[in-house]
Parts: sequence; C-alpha cells; structure tokens
Amino acid sequence: MTSNEERATSDETVGTIIDMHLHTTRGASDSDLRPEHLVVEARRVGLTGVHVSEHDRLWDAFELERFRKAHSDLFIANGMEVSTDLGHILVIGLDRYVPGIRRAEELRRVVQETGGYMIAAHPFRHFFDPVHFRPDKSGEPFSLTPDQAARLPVFQLVDAVEVLNGCNTLRENLFALRVAQVLGKPGTGGSDAHSALGIGVFATVFEKELESQEEMLAQLHAGRFHAAHGLREGALTRFTETSFDLLAGRQGEAAKG
Ligand SMILES: [Zn+2]
Ligand SMILES: [Zn+2]
Repeated sequence: MTSNEERATSDETVGTIIDMHLHTTRGASDSDLRPEHLVVEARRVGLTGVHVSEHDRLWDAFELERFRKAHSDLFIANGMEVSTDLGHILVIGLDRYVPGIRRAEELRRVVQETGGYMIAAHPFRHFFDPVHFRPDKSGEPFSLTPDQAARLPVFQLVDAVEVLNGCNTLRENLFALRVAQVLGKPGTGGSDAHSALGIGVFATVFEKELESQEEMLAQLHAGRFHAAHGLREGALTRFTETSFDLLAGRQGEAAKG
C-alpha cells in the first residue's frame, strides 16, 4: 500500500482520509454493515478514518470507547445523520439526540451552543428524477440554477455541503458541488454505505492527521478538508468540475454505495 504522502497530489497535504457518511447495524435497521466489517473494509480500501453517522442517534459512549481501543490504528468518529424538516443533516459535535432537532432551525440553535458542525447530506438526491418519482410531489421538473438553489433554506443553516455521496447520481453530486461553490462553503465526501460494498468510494481528506474528535471539529470549522474520489482505485483526487469524465465511467460502481 502507498503512504498518504505518495497518494497526495503535488500541491496538497493529505492527513486523515475519512469516509464521512456510514451506517452500521448498531444504529440503522436498514444496514447490513457490522462495525467489525466496517473497520476491516475501511483499512482494505485505504481509509485512515471513518465517521459513523447513524440515523438520529449516537453510539453508546462506552461501546464507542471500547471500539476505538480495539481499532486504534483507525480514526473513529461518531456523529449523527439527523432527519429534519429540511432534509437529512450530518452533525458532528452533539453528545446526544436532543428533542426538537427535527426542526432544522432548532438543530442549528443546539449545534451553535455546543460548537458543533452541520453538513447538508445528499441535498439534491432524486431532484432530477422524473417528476412522479420526486419526493416533493410538486409535479414540476427541477429547474433551479445553482445560484437559485443556493438560496434554499437548508443552505442558510449548514456549515458545509455533502458534495459527494455514494448513493447519489453523478449529476446530483455535481449540482451539489456547484451550489457549494456559489455559497462559498466547503464540501465533504462519504459513501453513505449500509453494507461493506462501496465503503470509501468517496471520502473527505483532512489536511492534518487527526488525533481526536475535538481536533476533527476544529479542522472542520477551519475548512481544512476537501471531498475526494478515487481512493479505492489508488488515485485519490479532489472533487472538481473536471471530475465528471473520470467519474462518469465509474458511475455504476459509485451507485452501489
Ligand atoms: Zn440520508
Ligand atoms: Zn445516510
């Protein structure tokens, strides 16, 4: 396996490489991914960290500590994917589920108090589907420009945008990237894997080697990270507009995440 330094492109430092969006059997009834399999597969594909983001709950603190000790070679973070009235939001820095955070504005208030961090998860999933499949049932094809979409309420509340999600289409991800650029907010990458398949297909590359979840939070707030693809192919690449051709050939693989 190549070292992180060798993987880095010339102008970028690569610290911890984290799949920022993962569900395990410990938190999601729709997941097949046992935590023990997660760490094995994470190491195999070259991740140096994982961020477990169960739906609306955190792991038990004691269990988390035990899991971290058993797998101390990997950086293991535990946040939440909170279901809100404005869609799913990845949250780092809450120590428990707080009543009321189903309202995204209340979530923002609570996260603000704790110094946490919010990421709009897969914000445009299904937005380009034929109208009868779309979740909002508006009956209208999605026609917003990135500038217009950037004014949607959810983006006024979050710190960052998940621009690479392994369960999204490339078109959905690219649109999220463009909206993040309009907003001037950073982007994260994660597989959204519910099984061992697709872990690490997308990742978030931190500039620093992270030692603790507090440090991860500080680096998030400092914006010292970016979304990347290609880890599993040994060609870690920052996600940009020019990723389109590279990823188009791998769309089928990415969609399995
Ligand atoms: Zn989600
Ligand atoms: Zn998810």
